[in-house]
Amino acid sequence: PKKTVLITGCSSGIGLALAVKMAKDEQKRFKVYATMRNLTRKDKLEEAAGRTLGKTLEIKQLDVCSEESIKTCVSSIPDRKIDILVSNAGMGLIGPIECQTIEEMRTVMDTNFFGLVRLLKEILPDMKKRKSGHIVIISSVMGIQGILFNDVYAASKFAVEGFCESLAIQALKFKLQLSLIEPGPVITEFETKVFEDGMKMDLSAADEETADMFTNIYLKNYKQIFQSLGQSAEEIHTVKIILAENPPFRHQTNTLYTPMTTLKYADPNGDLPIDTFYKMVFQHDKIFSASLNFIKLLSHLTCWPTVFTSI
Ligand code: NAD
Repeated sequence: PKKTVLITGCSSGIGLALAVKMAKDEQKRFKVYATMRNLTRKDKLEEAAGRTLGKTLEIKQLDVCSEESIKTCVSSIPDRKIDILVSNAGMGLIGPIECQTIEEMRTVMDTNFFGLVRLLKEILPDMKKRKSGHIVIISSVMGIQGILFNDVYAASKFAVEGFCESLAIQALKFKLQLSLIEPGPVITEFETKVFEDGMKMDLSAADEETADMFTNIYLKNYKQIFQSLGQSAEEIHTVKIILAENPPFRHQTNTLYTPMTTLKYADPNGDLPIDTFYKMVFQHDKIFSASLNFIKLLSHLTCWPTVFTSI
């Protein structure tokens, strides 16, 4: 029998790519419920789904910020049976906190963190009863390590990670699997939207130095970082994790990024990654773009994991 998969945030990006990939599985192992907040945005998914539409892929409405919408969607699935839940819906937010409203920050937490909590409140009890199920969460490397001007976004992903670490212990008791997927930069609408919002941001509440740092260092290098380090939505091989016999609790998708996250585990004081990011951003010769230095530094750092294991 086919495994039932429910994926959130499928109108674009990683969610759309994953839904289509699973629906087109040659062995037809999955029945995919590809959900999105706003059904008027279903054209791109319909087109990509092609002949799988109405067969191995069905589109449903689901807003992770609405308990009612989640309930309605889950109840419409035969026996409410979801074998694999992919919590993917999410949003970004960049900029100095002085220039963001609490309301904007709350929306990020509400979507990225409480969105997952609402899904699990509805779906976890059924999985526990059946003693089977796999919960897959699209987190981020920013769930492990913060980055300049991503304060609230990183906080929302840290919240997701802490929540899942706690829940994973209980999940094990019920024979459920839980996996956090941690991509680095991915080239999707997310990146475009976050960048455009950053460009439009009213920086008048920030001091000159902060505003300059955001515009002339962060935003200036933003696109290049995505272009040089970015993966495509198709490169986030979530299906591999889903099909793994023993799926890992954490999976980082971008090997170029691993050295940065390794720094965190290398120094219990926590200074090493912060100093490294500081040097990358502020102490490099201006003739080189910060992004180029970023890449260079990363390539130097690829020796780190080996160094650690040899210690
Ligand atoms: P995306 O913007 O293309 O996709 C996010 C989707 O979530 C969109 O379709 C959006 O409509 C949907 N969404 C937002 N609020 C929602 C709500 N309340 N209910 C239902 N759906 C909602 O971007 P993406 O890159 O595909 O992002 C998918 C996930 O990957 C997010 O959780 C994001 O944080 C994470 N991620 C992205 C990147 C990146 O660089 N793009 C990196 C690491 C992690």
